[in-house]
Amino acid sequence: MKPAPIPNNESERLHLLHELDILDTEPEPVFDHITRFVKQLFDVDAALITLVDSERQWFKSKIGFQECETPREVSFCGHAILQGTIMVVEDATQDERFADNPFVVAAEGVRFYAGAPLELKPGIIIGTLCIVDSKPRQFSAQQRQWLESLAEWVKNELTNRYAISNYEQERQVLAEGPIAAVVWQVEPEAHLIYAAANVEKVLGYSRDHLLSPAVNYESIVHRADRSELLARMQAVLDGKQPSLELEYRVITPENELRWVQHYARADYDSQGHIVRVRGYLHDNTKRKQLELSLQQANQSFALALAAGNLATWDWQLLKQSVNVNHTCAEILGRDESYSQQNRWAQLIHPDDFQATRTALQRHLKGLDERFEARFRLQHADGHYIWLHSIGKVIESDEQGLAVRMVGIHHDITAEVANEERRRQQETILNLVTAVQHEFLFVKEFSEVCDIALPQLMALTHSDVGIIGELPGNSYTHDLLWLHGVRRYDDDKKNRAYQKLIQQGLEVEVTGRVIRQVLSDGEAQLCPYPVQKDEVLLQPIDLPEFDNAYLLPLFFNREVVGILLLANSTTGYTPDLLLTLEPILNTLGTLMHFRRIEEQRLSATEELRRMATTDELTQVANRRIFLETAEQKFNEQHRYDVPVSVAIIDLDHFKSVNDTYGHAAGDNVLKQFADITRETLRDGDLLGRQGGEEFAILLPHADIDQAMLVAERVRTRVEQALFEWQGQRIPVSVSIGVAQLVATDKDTDRWFARADKALYEAKSEGRNRCIAAKEV
Ligand code: GH3
Ligand code: MG
Ligand code: MG
Repeated sequence: MKPAPIPNNESERLHLLHELDILDTEPEPVFDHITRFVKQLFDVDAALITLVDSERQWFKSKIGFQECETPREVSFCGHAILQGTIMVVEDATQDERFADNPFVVAAEGVRFYAGAPLELKPGIIIGTLCIVDSKPRQFSAQQRQWLESLAEWVKNELTNRYAISNYEQERQVLAEGPIAAVVWQVEPEAHLIYAAANVEKVLGYSRDHLLSPAVNYESIVHRADRSELLARMQAVLDGKQPSLELEYRVITPENELRWVQHYARADYDSQGHIVRVRGYLHDNTKRKQLELSLQQANQSFALALAAGNLATWDWQLLKQSVNVNHTCAEILGRDESYSQQNRWAQLIHPDDFQATRTALQRHLKGLDERFEARFRLQHADGHYIWLHSIGKVIESDEQGLAVRMVGIHHDITAEVANEERRRQQETILNLVTAVQHEFLFVKEFSEVCDIALPQLMALTHSDVGIIGELPGNSYTHDLLWLHGVRRYDDDKKNRAYQKLIQQGLEVEVTGRVIRQVLSDGEAQLCPYPVQKDEVLLQPIDLPEFDNAYLLPLFFNREVVGILLLANSTTGYTPDLLLTLEPILNTLGTLMHFRRIEEQRLSATEELRRMATTDELTQVANRRIFLETAEQKFNEQHRYDVPVSVAIIDLDHFKSVNDTYGHAAGDNVLKQFADITRETLRDGDLLGRQGGEEFAILLPHADIDQAMLVAERVRTRVEQALFEWQGQRIPVSVSIGVAQLVATDKDTDRWFARADKALYEAKSEGRNRCIAAKEV
């Protein structure tokens, strides 16, 4: 057996084969159709399309054959690809190259072989279309020709397959890249019929827009560049030029300018008629801008103006006319003809007019090197836009008076708005800090509001500001505690409000709009006059609202209050909500803390009361009474002011309990405490010593004054009507009174003298007061 030699161009051959990317792919119907047809046509055992790889031959299609591939050294095709023509082996046993080939010596082995080369490029044969049979056969010239023709078909399929996949890949690359492919039809008129998906990236216009029959491609092209494009395109269509290469400007839907580099070429049919024009578009803006800025740097001011994409104006002072360029006209929403009327000055915002005029005059008089100003100019729509304008006189007459001035406008509306927003945000953040600081140190929410309201009103140009809090347990949203009410320009009213607020100003919310904000938690912007009864806060008298912004204050997503701003001279916009958010959150949180603080204080107060008062009679308990007495004892020693004590015991109280019951006894004790408390002066302290024994501490009272008080208590009790379930209970008291004297070394001794006097009162028949003797 003689293995076939390796072809001279083997590496080139293998390179092409591998580039086809076909080895080890799935069967494809078109190739199987061919081999099936070949097998039938020649009536052989098998028909194959073989591709000869470096070590093997692989079958793209095989009919009547089992293996997918066989080693190259035993392949017939290894030989067939060496010759440029068909190879026929009529009986392999007779051919020394194949006689001992394992496929030949095998049972039912190969006898006949015919293989037509698949020559993809001149001299490069990648495989064959071949047939094999187990019987020796003759192969006529006619048959050879058929097999060769069929091999030609296989070859075409292979090249098409390669071309298509290659083409698709290229298109894929194109579609993702910075260059968009487009195709124009020629008949009946030139119109875009294809645009690659990435066209929007390049031109800023969607594919659908560009392909729409109603849209002419040139409509997206800058006016100044249109005629050139149309003329150059016409030259291609007329066959005067085979292709065109052009750079022009496209105005995007966002009114931005893009530079596009355009290459186009005509496709011809076999008769030499143009069938379509293919183009490639590339966004060249960046390079162009670089180029332009270079130009600007290099050229004079006036020239740069003319070339750039800036909004330019050209003012002929004598002719009283102003020319503006396309961009400039666009910024102002005026068409270029408006400028001829020379009424620009009327469009300047009244607030900016004077400063702009001054700047202009300074330049015209030669005081300033150039004219430069920031001012508002009225757009055709009626709204104002902010412009930064720079200009320079470029022509003067013999007297040196300016006759022509050129300049540029730069639209800085967004910039100014940003500045304003930044300024607002800064103010708000400072306000947040100030408010928190105030709350931390003063803890008075109304003072927090006194700081916040004027600033919030100034920021929003409001004439009225109100901050109100929902009472903690309000589910009906019809009450508000006002912590701040302010009216710009009316300080008298403001002071009156402040007084009311200090006393706790509770208002009834009858206005629907306020109620809604409190219940929904949705801010309400009223840009229109508000009906007075929509925002009624009884009994506060508010002015009419021309506009208002009602903003809920939250803590933990729960509405805790409201900020109301009204009568803004500039009006309210929804974006204000975002700007104010930090201060709204802060006010809501502080309101919540205020509420918590109030609850904490009242809880502490309650605890304190519980710890110092007697539960049944609500008078001072024994501990607090003795502490106070101790204090008075010390004071008396220090300042030598009189102080007395009266100890009171209810007479025969056991029998009250026994006769009317314990509950009746309790009631008597309570009533006694109430009567006695009413009898006393502010500084006097009534305390319960225990059981039915009470005491009164009487600061600044000597024994005589104290006796008067005791006597008054005694008579009041005696005369009072104590009743229990319709029955009258007779009640009387005995009282021992003692003034603190120098010999009382401590409170015990002082009290003991009062006790002793009380004992005497009891033993002398009760219902009487007795003054203690000094010992
Ligand atoms: P005297 O005129 O000598 O003071 O006679 P008295 O009955 O008032 O004196 P006594 O000390 O014998 O009795 C005091 C009674 O007061 C005994 C007790 O049942 C009653 N008592 C003490 N504390 C209370 C109380 O909190 N409620 C009621 N209902 N009774 C009380
Ligand atoms: Mg007693
Ligand atoms: Mg008693």
